[in-house]
Amino acid sequence: MEKLIITVAPTGSLPTKAQTPHVPVTPAEVIQDAYDCYNAGASIVHIHGRDKEQKPTHDINFFSETVAGIKGKCNIILQISTGGRAGQTYESRAQALGLKDAEMASLTTGSVNFPNSAYVNEPALVEYLAKTMQEHGLKPEIEIFDVSMISNALDLVKKGLLATPIHFNFVMGLKGAMPFSLKNYSHLLDSIPAGSTWNVSGVGKAQLELAAHSLVSGGHVRVGLEDNIYYSKGVLATNAQLVERIVRLAQELGREVATPDEAREILQIKKK
Ligand code: MG
Repeated sequence: MEKLIITVAPTGSLPTKAQTPHVPVTPAEVIQDAYDCYNAGASIVHIHGRDKEQKPTHDINFFSETVAGIKGKCNIILQISTGGRAGQTYESRAQALGLKDAEMASLTTGSVNFPNSAYVNEPALVEYLAKTMQEHGLKPEIEIFDVSMISNALDLVKKGLLATPIHFNFVMGLKGAMPFSLKNYSHLLDSIPAGSTWNVSGVGKAQLELAAHSLVSGGHVRVGLEDNIYYSKGVLATNAQLVERIVRLAQELGREVATPDEAREILQIKKK
């Protein structure tokens, strides 16, 4: 089996210090956490911005300070979130894609409900973000909240806006979106083209179960407080602890963990 790429999503848009003291929200905290997770075995860090009130932001200063700080400490692959919780304008969502050390970006190829809001990604926005990523030489991670988003990604390939092999990320277990089940996971696997790579992001208690399924079926794994703040029922986790647990599981299952350079090779990312 291919070596395992572990992504850490340390911050996201939602968890606050009141919910868990372990969530990094300032550039300095995100830099330190990304470095700890790199040392624990993560080869990609998925970055979200927060403002002084811990609210999601696309502020370019947050991203440039954080990206440069992480790059200065380690070789982990920097993946920029283009998520919409920090504001919905095309320009704001694409703002950090031009940072010179960024190598990947998330791209959701359709719309879906979040627990208390709609996550709107209309076709023109998806094409705009795909094109901007292409211009900056970024490898997109296609965020899949339902099967239609896979066919939308294949349409981007036809339009010349997305290169193959595609790297997908199956997001499951988020209220309002696709629940986690082995059947749903298998269905997604059956729906992606041969030669694709895929990651999984289980939300809440689905994080560990979905990760385990991905480990044994050849997929990659994302963990982190963005998707799940608990290590076990009622016990808060740190990002590094969540990464360390996946490393241990992989070792027990005989699956080697990829270094960032090996991850670049697997995902066909050109090192900047
Ligand atoms: Mg995200």
